[in-house]
Amino acid sequence: MTGVIPADLIREQIKAQMAAGAQQDMIGKVNAFVDERCIPLEPKFLQGSFKALKPELDKARAEAKKRGIWAPWIPRAHGGLGLSLPEYAKVSAALGRSPIAHYALNCQAPDVGNMELLMSHGSEDQRARWLAPLVAGSIRSCFSMTEPEFAGSNPVFMETKAVRDGADYVISGHKWFTSAADGSAFAIVMAVTNPDGKPHERASQIIVPMDAKGVKLVRNIQIMGDVGDDYASHAEMRYDKVRVPITNRLGAEGAGFTLAQERLGPGRIHHCMRWIGICDRAIDLMCKQAASRMIAPGVPLGSKQAVQHMIAECRAETDAARLFVLDAAQQIEAKGAHEARVAVSAIKFHTAGVLQRVLDKALQLHGALGMTDDIPLAYWYRHERGARIYDGPDEVHKTVVARQLLKGYGLKVE
Ligand SMILES: Cc1cc2nc3c(=O)[nH]c(=O)nc-3n(C[C@H](O)[C@H](O)[C@H](O)COP(=O)(O)OP(=O)(O)OC[C@H]3O[C@@H](n4cnc5c(N)ncnc54)[C@H](O)[C@@H]3O)c2cc1C
Repeated sequence: MTGVIPADLIREQIKAQMAAGAQQDMIGKVNAFVDERCIPLEPKFLQGSFKALKPELDKARAEAKKRGIWAPWIPRAHGGLGLSLPEYAKVSAALGRSPIAHYALNCQAPDVGNMELLMSHGSEDQRARWLAPLVAGSIRSCFSMTEPEFAGSNPVFMETKAVRDGADYVISGHKWFTSAADGSAFAIVMAVTNPDGKPHERASQIIVPMDAKGVKLVRNIQIMGDVGDDYASHAEMRYDKVRVPITNRLGAEGAGFTLAQERLGPGRIHHCMRWIGICDRAIDLMCKQAASRMIAPGVPLGSKQAVQHMIAECRAETDAARLFVLDAAQQIEAKGAHEARVAVSAIKFHTAGVLQRVLDKALQLHGALGMTDDIPLAYWYRHERGARIYDGPDEVHKTVVARQLLKGYGLKVE
């Protein structure tokens, strides 16, 4: 031992410190953008329509591009910032603090997942026609998989068919909860192309332009009293003998589920960190209310131990969930989404549960104000109840975790 630190190690440490500094800088920029450009638009979003807010959101989007924070999750080669999954996860939490911030930076679901699919499996033509304008933010898209007549928790169970006819597929089927279909330029439709294949090799993902003949948006479904519009909506769709070229298929025929699984790993990190961001904002609102709301002259709400406990419990649950999710993001980064699937299932149901508990406590602490759309708690309370259902219901994810654990004890659970 000479006592001299090897130059390589020093270089690595400097690189790591610079990366950490750059990451902090990015989070700082994103937080400032959310505070300055998104939170001020919230009252109009919460009490009006998404469409009416679009001109102002477009200005916010232009500002995001100017500030160098546009499309953070998309690789540089495709026009984004090229953050790694753990880096983007922290950005997603910062954006989660406002219900319109992911949209403002063009990293909103389902577009971001569709961008990933096109980057990984799109042909050159598909990328030029659909990916480039998606990344630029000039079009939107949706993902159409779940069907009202079939249990979405078992995704191999579906009826929509794509039948080959010459150089085309002819698609017929009924879907619902196609989020953000209203105003989208195209849908990625999951349809059975190989009816005689093994259950996980029966379906393909096919790009369907929304203006193709036979595509019908039946309605925007009313969700907990809110029908929504434009990006902020969930549609029932009919595909009635829709003809698209076979070249609109993504990846190999029958690879639909494999592609869907790939898309869901990082997507669940994005969602979970967005929920952490919602919790951060809810706690911020709780603290402001606890410090300023007087329950008697000179007696702030926050002087009550019951309120202090609510705040402390929310803080601890949120911070613990954040570390849990970041660990899963590291696992995906290190060994891929498939190998990390048990960790991803664990964070999915755990974080969705933390979100429900934190929102409920935050709403309670605000009393009647919490029930209003003057602040975003009620919006999240209504719309994020779905967190325990979409991207796989809690029960399905719990089974994945339990099955893995019990295997170690010699019990095989189907
Ligand atoms: C807000 C929101 C947005 C969505 N966006 C989209 C979208 O953009 N595109 C799209 O294609 N779909 C979307 N979905 C649909 C979503 O993917 C499905 O709702 C989900 O897969 C569950 O399917 P399901 O609703 O048919 O419930 P079902 O499969 O009928 O399950 C109902 C309930 O049964 C229980 N359950 C199910 N399976 C099991 C099991 N194995 N063990 C124990 N209990 C079980 C669970 O409690 C579950 O909640 C969205 C849903 C919501 C709520």
